[in-house]
Amino acid sequence: MSVLLEIKNLKKHFPIHGGLFNRVVSQLKAVDDVSFVLEKGKTMGLVGESGCGKSTLGRAVLRLHEPTDGTVILDGTDITKLEPKALVDARRDMQIIFQDPYASLSPRRTIQQTLLEPLETHKIGTAESRQQKIEELLDIVGLRKHVLHRYPHEFSGGQRQRIGIARALTLEPKFIVADEAVSALDVSVQSQVLNLISNLQKTLGISFLFISHDLAVVQHISDDVGVMYLGRLVEKATATSLYTEPRHPYTKALLSAIPTPDPTIKNQRQILKGDVPSPLNPPSGCTFRTRCPEAMDICAVKAPVQVEVGSKDEPHWVACHLFELPK
Ligand code: SF4
Repeated sequence: MSVLLEIKNLKKHFPIHGGLFNRVVSQLKAVDDVSFVLEKGKTMGLVGESGCGKSTLGRAVLRLHEPTDGTVILDGTDITKLEPKALVDARRDMQIIFQDPYASLSPRRTIQQTLLEPLETHKIGTAESRQQKIEELLDIVGLRKHVLHRYPHEFSGGQRQRIGIARALTLEPKFIVADEAVSALDVSVQSQVLNLISNLQKTLGISFLFISHDLAVVQHISDDVGVMYLGRLVEKATATSLYTEPRHPYTKALLSAIPTPDPTIKNQRQILKGDVPSPLNPPSGCTFRTRCPEAMDICAVKAPVQVEVGSKDEPHWVACHLFELPK
């Protein structure tokens, strides 16, 4: 196993100010003590409901949000310790694809200006080689070079997302965070963009952190999958193991909501009670206990720890008291 990215005990807390003197009165724990590794050339899917902290985690990994604590090691370099100048250089290796391709492209810049910008900022190549590079990138993402002089509003959502992907590829990154990268697209366009990302992973050997609330989409593209709830990873496994043998009650509920194309198969859909609690005031013990159909007394007083439930070939861990052996 060749590790590209190692996240250790990553936290991102946002201070809440209030009172007469606008002091810090509380902390919103958007990401709380998350650890995982991502291998070179692999894709890890990150799933969970809206507001569970997955996008904040993606941004904290890239230091678009400054982490509160923890380390992010990318190919041997601790990103969290880099000074601003070194961080700018390190950004060549890590990029992001945003959910809304329209909002992430400047409406006043042509596609050529958008794609050339990262190469010019990092002073890479000559004017001629940069031009050649962006034309190659357009080819990789399935667009013709005549689009270079057009503006974002002249494209469909799927084409704009291809441009967003081309921009993320300009600096030949080792790692890309794809944050709900296909959520805003029509289903038919979704599969085209997913296939494109999947091909890029295979041909260019890029590692992806693929963030989505849609478990069916994540299954299509991921080698490993992590499930997040209220800022914490509650289960992580190979995609095969997670989708065939989910262990955490939250994962089971999420999976039960995926529609099956075969009408003869009846899914036992589990409806989760209530909404996700506020991360400002999370439940004690296991934070999922207020919605868990299998909650026990211990769940209110003690937070579960990670328990390995997989095998050497199919690593799989879960944080749930149902899998902790009685002491
Ligand atoms: Fe449910 Fe308890 Fe497991 Fe949490 S620890 S998921 S409340 S059974």
